[in-house]
Amino acid sequence: MIEVASEARDRAYVPYSGFRMGAAVLTTDETIVPGSLVENVSLGLAMCAERVALFAAVAAGERPRALVLVSPRTDGAVTFPCGACLQVALELGGPGMVVVAVSTDGEREEIVLGDLLPRGPRKA
Ligand SMILES: [Zn+2]
Repeated sequence: MIEVASEARDRAYVPYSGFRMGAAVLTTDETIVPGSLVENVSLGLAMCAERVALFAAVAAGERPRALVLVSPRTDGAVTFPCGACLQVALELGGPGMVVVAVSTDGEREEIVLGDLLPRGPRKA
């Protein structure tokens, strides 16, 4: 999954920030789906790599089981998904979903989604 996310990172469309991010989702049928950050001149239209991968998994008829993000560090730390991506992941994968964040210099951290977003709104 890290390799798929790294390849997706290489394909990120980031002409404005230059901040390359790639993601990969492992689905319930063991398929690995890539996602790349995609920016737009209308900056609010950018879409995170994680949500691209999460939505692509749904479009393929699957549900995500795990999420990997490969990205440069932010403020010196390994970068984890933003709040919007965590909420989408919680909706689709539930609080037990594993999230793996990998920095481009090779540090890797793994955490359960429910620990990253412990009180996010959940479907009944
Ligand atoms: Zn995000």
